[in-house]
Amino acid sequence: AGNFTEKGGAYDWSSEEEEPVARAEPVQVLVVKDDHSFELDEAALSRILLSEAVRDREVVAISVAGAFRKGKSFLMDFMLRYMYNLGSEEWLGMPDEPLTGFSWRGGSERETTGIQIWNEVFLVDKPDGRKVAVLLMDTQGTFDSQSTLRDSATVFALSTMISSMQVYNISQNVQEDDLQHLQLFTEYGRLAMEETFLKPFQSMIFLVRDWSFPYEFPYGQDGGMRFLEKRLKISENQHEELQNVRKHIHSCFTNISCFLLPHPGLKVATNPNFDGRLKEIDGDFIRNLKVLVPWLLSPQNLDVKEINGNNITCRGLVEYFKAYIKIYQG
Ligand code: GDP
Ligand code: MG
Repeated sequence: AGNFTEKGGAYDWSSEEEEPVARAEPVQVLVVKDDHSFELDEAALSRILLSEAVRDREVVAISVAGAFRKGKSFLMDFMLRYMYNLGSEEWLGMPDEPLTGFSWRGGSERETTGIQIWNEVFLVDKPDGRKVAVLLMDTQGTFDSQSTLRDSATVFALSTMISSMQVYNISQNVQEDDLQHLQLFTEYGRLAMEETFLKPFQSMIFLVRDWSFPYEFPYGQDGGMRFLEKRLKISENQHEELQNVRKHIHSCFTNISCFLLPHPGLKVATNPNFDGRLKEIDGDFIRNLKVLVPWLLSPQNLDVKEINGNNITCRGLVEYFKAYIKIYQG
């Protein structure tokens, strides 16, 4: 629970009189159940995306995806701070402020495989004068056994299909199995989409957490790009399988980039009482966070969601979401 401010969001507070004023919070819109079936909470999705203020706006959908317990929600909370304080140099907050938003604390609670979205959609003016609606999604999978890998693949595919930017959150390095997973996930997505000559997806950002070789490739996006170029390079003497994974990834996304983020420090990683305050996070991490978050979210960098070359509104996104999920429900 947190003390959320209501400023900056575009939630339509007036449309449903009988309901108590909605709090700003994450809402689970897609759940993968124990029997591996999917459930879409259409009512929740509609409440958020069909509110009067946003439904006809073009949508920028930002998704963060990856395995559990790798700091995704922690990062999303900083993304929320940025969105709530857009335009302020001080968006990162005060040194003693606990971090709130998506729940991110470690602990024993069993997590759900699925998609959560922030129930306030942000209206942002882009420098070119367009007003766009920004949707933040937190996506989780387990990636640990064959059966759950299929669930994770579907969740990842869906979130990639409905987002304009997918942040693939991975720990320490880009391993061959991270790439294989990505191939599987995007293959799932591509199968469900119409064939076109366009690349099916927009931006893919490999976000490497706890990067520990800054002397080889420095933190940030330049180091990240150079690192990724090396990892995604296709060469003659590579095994065919390795070549195919790389070709596939290149063929799926319009933009591919990478950011190397340092370890946030032992308090963040291991102290069960840590509540997210900045003064307990390593300076290196914070310095890079100050680069990463505006790089992802500053108004000039926000790309509207496109499907088959058409810009999509919030209303359109709901329709696509429903259509895509039907395909996976079989
Ligand atoms: P999620 O399951 O991916 O959403 O992970 P959470 O955001 O809930 O974070 C899980 C745990 O990892 C928490 O205890 C965080 O304090 C910690 N954490 C957050 N960011 C990082 C990071 O960049 N590196 C490490 N090692 N731990 C992190
Ligand atoms: Mg989480």
